[in-house]
Amino acid sequence: MLLVAGPTGSGKTTTLYALLHSLKLHRKNIVSIEDPVEYQLDGINHIQVDMKHGLGYPEGVKAILRMDPNYVMLGEIRDAASAKAAVVAAASGRPLLSTIHSRDATGVIDVLRNFNLNDHEISSHLVMVVAQRLVRLLCPECRHQQRPTRRERRWLELLGKEVPDLVWHAKGCDACRNLGYKVRTGVFEVWRVHADDYSLILQGVDRKKLYEHLRKHGHAFMLDDGLSKAAEGVTTLDELRGLGGLSAFQSQYEQQHRL
Ligand SMILES: [Zn+2]
Repeated sequence: MLLVAGPTGSGKTTTLYALLHSLKLHRKNIVSIEDPVEYQLDGINHIQVDMKHGLGYPEGVKAILRMDPNYVMLGEIRDAASAKAAVVAAASGRPLLSTIHSRDATGVIDVLRNFNLNDHEISSHLVMVVAQRLVRLLCPECRHQQRPTRRERRWLELLGKEVPDLVWHAKGCDACRNLGYKVRTGVFEVWRVHADDYSLILQGVDRKKLYEHLRKHGHAFMLDDGLSKAAEGVTTLDELRGLGGLSAFQSQYEQQHRL
């Protein structure tokens, strides 16, 4: 199971379609069941959930497996039935791709538990989680660097991050209609679930312990990806802060310190 996690409107489906698009290039047989079908991609068999005719995710996955696909996509794991359907597909040995509503990567474990998957099912099938959020891209025409503001300095210090001498800021010009930003990009976290992570999941540890475990082992969280994008002038610290906590624990931290 490869799951793309994020809140509504964070571009999860776009990431999944980008993956499917690149898989199609290798001429694989990909079948997806979605509710609704958001984009039609050539070379992919799309099946639409149709509850009126009794075609939910569980029935759809059964039908899909009879087609012997190389990859199965399930639009969204959003309840116990779709979580179970995802496990059925993954247990058949086909890679299963889906999206799930979660604040961050480790949060996915709790969401799957809430959908009645047991720790054994989760650790047997979960291979990778991609968590993501969207941030605005700095306008390359008018972006500029300056010394960090007191607020930026304080935010970084409280998060335990290094404060750079110069940070990128938005300004505004004709090219960006005075917004300082143009279009959006993703900040990502990719969690390849390792052997020690599996044993922690099987021990039933909560997301906070998993989060701490990953942090100790140098895992790059969404915040880290965001900070490196802010350092490169792709986006700003303001945009990252505006996301309101790139993980549950960062958010608690921010609330404690009234950021
Ligand atoms: Zn501009």
